Amino acid sequence: MKINLNQYDIQIGEDTMDKIDESIRSFYPYKEIFIITDDNVFKLYKDFMIKKLSSFTLHFISIEPFESSKSLKTYERVINQLLDKKIRKNNLIIALGGGVVGDLAGFVAATLFRGVDFIQIPTTLLAMVDSSIGGKTGIDLNQGKNLIGAFKNPVKVFIDPIFLSTLPKVEYKNGLAETLKAGLIGNPKLYEYLKVNDKLTINEIIMAIEVKADIVKKDPFEKNERMFLNFGHTFGHAIERHYDYAIKHGVAISYGMLFSLELGIKSKVTNPLLFDEVKKILLRLELIKEPILDKEQFIGYIQYDKKNYSDGLRFVYLKDVGKPIIQKGVQL
Ligand code: ADP
Ligand code: ZN
Repeated sequence: MKINLNQYDIQIGEDTMDKIDESIRSFYPYKEIFIITDDNVFKLYKDFMIKKLSSFTLHFISIEPFESSKSLKTYERVINQLLDKKIRKNNLIIALGGGVVGDLAGFVAATLFRGVDFIQIPTTLLAMVDSSIGGKTGIDLNQGKNLIGAFKNPVKVFIDPIFLSTLPKVEYKNGLAETLKAGLIGNPKLYEYLKVNDKLTINEIIMAIEVKADIVKKDPFEKNERMFLNFGHTFGHAIERHYDYAIKHGVAISYGMLFSLELGIKSKVTNPLLFDEVKKILLRLELIKEPILDKEQFIGYIQYDKKNYSDGLRFVYLKDVGKPIIQKGVQL
């Protein structure tokens, strides 16, 4: 099936990779394709990609599979390798991997020759339901994450759950946290599904993508509704900073969502039943553990950055499932 975003579409389904050669040939008339991936995905899927893209000549560039690869150093190295392999402006780049590969390869595509077309093929659940959608690309600096970046839409996103068969459990759970977020902010049916299930089918993956795609379509540059996607992330980012990023993003935003529900309930905005319900789901999915972390210790790490303005903190609260609001002037 296809989900349309403003200038491109997302192709999703269990046969996506079987049809990818034909699909790319329909809009790309050249032979050379440059695939940026990471060492794990390269080992697992190099031969698979060669088989699925048999009409093309593939050039692989592989980076180390860590967040630390989203660096200026790796950026420069990837650009050098692309130039050594004689990439030209009208060629096509594929980002094959999780969020790390997608963000870095997207930023390379946004900037090399002032822009080269690229395709996203997310291979983690988190990248499928979240980071491959919406056009944000970037790299980290010592001073912070994603400090350099660009909005760069891919020409196409291909999502095939086949890649999830090799994904480690902890990475899968990481993606479930963003899927739960999508349900909470935008799809009660998806939320109900996660109350009793731990494994997604293609239908839930599609629902989660639709939540994000709908929001991004209305507000591509994060002026209004796109902030809803930050539900759980104000505290989530603070928790990541507190632990110096030695905690999974999905775990950090799981606590972040709970803290945000707690605050919303205190302010009489949020349905008071939600806290216990969501906590139960997160415990079952092993995204959080008892005793729940004490939120006070993270308050000092909340950054009054681009999302928080001089009138106090802006927080995404939920009135109820599917009903997010932006609460201004929150005092902690
Ligand atoms: P995220 O999408 O959560 O940002 P990363 O890009 O950090 O994910 O990738 C998380 C880990 O999962 C990395 O070690 C990466 O190599 C690995 N990985 C990505 N996709 C797959 C896959 N389909 N099968 C197995 N491992 C994968
Ligand atoms: Zn997130």
